[in-house]
Amino acid sequence: MSGHTYKIIELVGSSKNTVEDAVKNALSKASESLRNSRWFEVTQIRGEIENNEVAYWQVVLKLGFNIDGTQRKTDTGETVKKESGGQTDVSGKYRCKVCGYIYDPQKGDPDNGINPGTSFKDLPNDWKCPECGVNKDQFEEMREGS
Ligand code: FE
Repeated sequence: MSGHTYKIIELVGSSKNTVEDAVKNALSKASESLRNSRWFEVTQIRGEIENNEVAYWQVVLKLGFNIDGTQRKTDTGETVKKESGGQTDVSGKYRCKVCGYIYDPQKGDPDNGINPGTSFKDLPNDWKCPECGVNKDQFEEMREGS
């Protein structure tokens, strides 16, 4: 894994059948909103009992996805300072709650056809985080000091 940078999120999956199915259910749900998933690690396995039988398997897993090719940091406070040249101007900026990517309307997202000067609200509904691929609803407006 050396030379690559990953962001890790935690998922919980469940299945009536097997632990493996619980993992697959979690991964398939995650694939709807995440791309560049690379590996997972099951950290917890538990079950729910009904009538002395296993009613549900539940797994907690860490999912790593690739964020190579970015200089951005998950420490968003630091990123804001860098991007705004030491000022605290965060007006119009939105942050991805999943990976920390910051959408800056002054820069737009030219790689994905978004011109500089496009406000977050004017982004098309099918626009996705360029880093982790989640939808717009996973973004939060940034405020001073955040
Ligand atoms: Fe993201």
